[in-house]
Amino acid sequence: MINSTSTLFISDIHLEKSQPEITRQFLKLLNEIRPPVDALYILGDLFEIWIGDDGGIPEHQEIIQALRSLTQNGVPVFVLHGNRDFLIGKKFLEETGCQFLPDESVISIYGQTVLLMHGDTLCTRDIVYIRMRKIIRHPLVQWLFLKLPLSIRLAIANKIREKSKQHTAVTSYDTMDVTQDEVRRIMQNHKASCLIHGHTHRPGFHQFTLQGTAAERIVLGAWHERGNVLVWGEMGRKEWKEL
Ligand code: MN
Repeated sequence: MINSTSTLFISDIHLEKSQPEITRQFLKLLNEIRPPVDALYILGDLFEIWIGDDGGIPEHQEIIQALRSLTQNGVPVFVLHGNRDFLIGKKFLEETGCQFLPDESVISIYGQTVLLMHGDTLCTRDIVYIRMRKIIRHPLVQWLFLKLPLSIRLAIANKIREKSKQHTAVTSYDTMDVTQDEVRRIMQNHKASCLIHGHTHRPGFHQFTLQGTAAERIVLGAWHERGNVLVWGEMGRKEWKEL
């Protein structure tokens, strides 16, 4: 049970029908959250694939309902787009009661200014990915994509997924991590001393100095092996909870 005054962060759950154990852990987490938990933040890639609300909502009814009961129980849930589920739209938000957060959102948590991102745009050395991202995240491309029949959308999405797997296999570990210069630039831009993101699947706390003051970057872990959540308590204590 998580029922202390705290704020929770997760990302990269990668929910999909073929991974029932991850779904079970996610449902367990939602079920364990009670007020006075202040909020649950989902920082992208909640779903492994999302080809539009008209495809995803019927397929993931159990998850939609669990999110809805959490928001109805008075715990706000915020959702940020990942590189896999960036087509999560209005209908999903309506049906779950979740609130949408744009990438690079600045929030205040118990007095600290915190920048929230998915994290893919921080990997600036991965030029191939950044270039592809520009195309598929273009509003016109997305609008056209959503006009296609579901079966064609699924085929295209699977093709992109395959290509992305090939790309990941031949790209170095370093290239796929964040660039520290970009981290600094973006944190300075937003005047944030703390950044929380996912995407790289390399969980950890990174401390450094930013313009003479202490700064921190927290990376959330993926759920491939085990569900995990960052619990940020009202006294400033941060800890991982495994499911
Ligand atoms: Mn991602």
